[in-house]
Amino acid sequence: MLNTNFHENFGCHVFSETIMRERLPKDIFQELKNTIDKGTPLSAKVAEVVAGAMKEWAMENGATHYTHWFQPLNGFTAEKHDSFLRIDKDGHALSDFSGKALIKGEPDASSFPSGGLRATFEARGYTAWDCTSPAFLKEDSSGLTLCIPTAFCSYNGEALDKKTPLLRSVEALSQQVVRILRLFGDEETNRVSVSCGAEQEYFLIDKKMWKERPDLVFTGRTLLGAKPPKTQEMDDHYFGTLKERVSAYMKELDMALWKVGVPSKTKHNEAAPAQHELAPIFETVNIACDHNQITMELMKKIADHHGMVCLLHEKPFAGLNGSGKHNNWSITTPDGVNLLNPGKTPRENAQFLVFLCAVISAIDDHAALIRASAANAGNDYRLGALEAPPAIISIFLGDELTEILGQIESGEERPTHFGGVLDIGVPGLPNLSLDTTDRNRTSPFAFTGNKFEFRMVPSSASIAGPNTVLNTVVAEALSDIADTLENAKDFNRELNELLAKIIKKHKRVIFNGNGYGEEWIAEAKRRGLPNINNSVDSYKAFIYPESIAMFEKHHVYSETELRARYEIKMEKYSKIVGIEAQTMLQMLNKQIIPACMAYSDKIAQGIVNIKATALNCNTLPAEERLRQLTNGIAALYKSMKKLEKAVHKAENFNENFISHAEFARDNLVAVMDEIRTHADSLETIVDKDFWPIPTYNDLIYSV
Ligand code: ADP
Ligand code: MG
Repeated sequence: MLNTNFHENFGCHVFSETIMRERLPKDIFQELKNTIDKGTPLSAKVAEVVAGAMKEWAMENGATHYTHWFQPLNGFTAEKHDSFLRIDKDGHALSDFSGKALIKGEPDASSFPSGGLRATFEARGYTAWDCTSPAFLKEDSSGLTLCIPTAFCSYNGEALDKKTPLLRSVEALSQQVVRILRLFGDEETNRVSVSCGAEQEYFLIDKKMWKERPDLVFTGRTLLGAKPPKTQEMDDHYFGTLKERVSAYMKELDMALWKVGVPSKTKHNEAAPAQHELAPIFETVNIACDHNQITMELMKKIADHHGMVCLLHEKPFAGLNGSGKHNNWSITTPDGVNLLNPGKTPRENAQFLVFLCAVISAIDDHAALIRASAANAGNDYRLGALEAPPAIISIFLGDELTEILGQIESGEERPTHFGGVLDIGVPGLPNLSLDTTDRNRTSPFAFTGNKFEFRMVPSSASIAGPNTVLNTVVAEALSDIADTLENAKDFNRELNELLAKIIKKHKRVIFNGNGYGEEWIAEAKRRGLPNINNSVDSYKAFIYPESIAMFEKHHVYSETELRARYEIKMEKYSKIVGIEAQTMLQMLNKQIIPACMAYSDKIAQGIVNIKATALNCNTLPAEERLRQLTNGIAALYKSMKKLEKAVHKAENFNENFISHAEFARDNLVAVMDEIRTHADSLETIVDKDFWPIPTYNDLIYSV
């Protein structure tokens, strides 16, 4: 029976602040808290005591092992388990966990992607305790393991993971935000944090069916499959009643998430059949990132308990909505004040407008980079397919805010449609009462009242990358604003002028209309906004000179670290597409073509048999079907040969990683699309008993 009492359950497997307060001496607790909240260095003594308390707690709960838990550049989480066991000189088993072991690990890193960052002779990677994200106990049927969130770097201190740059970007943003706060008279705040809530979409299908589809097993998406008569046309799945099997799954998932402190809050059916969503309560971005990784892992694991498979791929089914992750983002002071919340006083509102304009200019200046931060091979099938935002980056602000910005730009004081006169000159500013009800679902980057919602993020990816980019571009914009205003002689006037200038220059990125419309593509082009429709091209934004300069300036990525990521992303793209192409060939050769041939043969036999009766029966339909089939097979075969050739070339590619990815995109992906058209039309005419794999009908209504 699940323990559904969340007062007892929530966080019971977390080495939380409450547990630390109970178990640590007061002074040690205070020192650790200072490290967590203010970033003060951690002393060896504190680490030693904390390690002891952590071990005691973990062992009381039944753990025998601990692991440094980190997020290498393959996009997953990694763990290497060490037991607490120590043998004394008399051969007795004792337990041991030192401060040193807590703060530093040295796993062999040679099998993680490093993009050339780590020379092979220096295979070591180092994990370093990230005490800002709490340690937790991970549960499986074998028991509990103590997981210690860590950063992962090379011998030279280069980040080999996703967490380190994320932490650096928060620091960079925090520094620039504090500069702005000072300008508005806040002398107290020394640090701010980034808040993030990542809504996670996913599909659930029956495991037995999944096993019969090599494409799902190897690639996470269907490479073939004709569209069934009914999918999401009737809008009957979105927010529909949860089926019992799904409901039982969601319940177990919630309980498991709550135990490790993941504040899962909302669950519902999504637009496509078999599609669902989970939204947590927002948290500090670093923790939100860890928690999203845990969520994805548990989603997959718990599906298995229910005879299902959880698909996190961005586009498991062609013709149906794919999955994404809405990344809700805001900036919070230590007192819990959301700086993206329009305030109650004119001064607060002026400050709010500074943050708003900073985000607008940041997104416009680095649109291609923002786009790149949400790129992966799977997302290429989703962005711009009228189910997710287009590949064009724009910002939705809503009519009221847009009008207010228009007034600041023109310098006119006139009543807004929403009442009130807007004067940015402090203290004449009226309260802004924002219309937060507008829910434009087609915008990639929407202001939703007190936060921005970045809706392009791929469902399967870590949210670390997109948030690292977002934090850095906004830090850069704020740093420019602070540079100007810190030297202002007449603050109010110069603030006014600066905001007007920013709005004038960057208002092209604001778009409140329908992002799915054809007209927007043309309009965006007129405005000069980039429209980069594939990952390979979009990744190039990581190494634009202005991107490199910005990341270096804010100490988020060194040029080497950035180039390494660029290379890894390109290589990953080529690998994914290569695996897809090989899987497709295997399915065609071993399943689809033999099935189509067997069915043709059956019809041919039938025609012969019917004719043999000498009853002069009409065999025309059978003959026409046979012709259709054999022509279809011939077309499929021809495309398949083309793919075989391209795969062979891709496998023996000896140019650089960029041309390799481009080759995969232009040859493999394109031919796979062609093949799919032939195979899917054959599927519609082959006898069900002959079709060798579960169809879309079977899969999406399998649970
Ligand atoms: P919708 O589905 O309409 O986009 P939800 O309420 O389901 O909205 O999800 C919104 C997400 O945004 C939740 O994860 C929520 O915790 C998060 N969120 C709310 N306020 C903030 C904030 N200030 N900063 C970051 N995330 C936030
Ligand atoms: Mg949302």
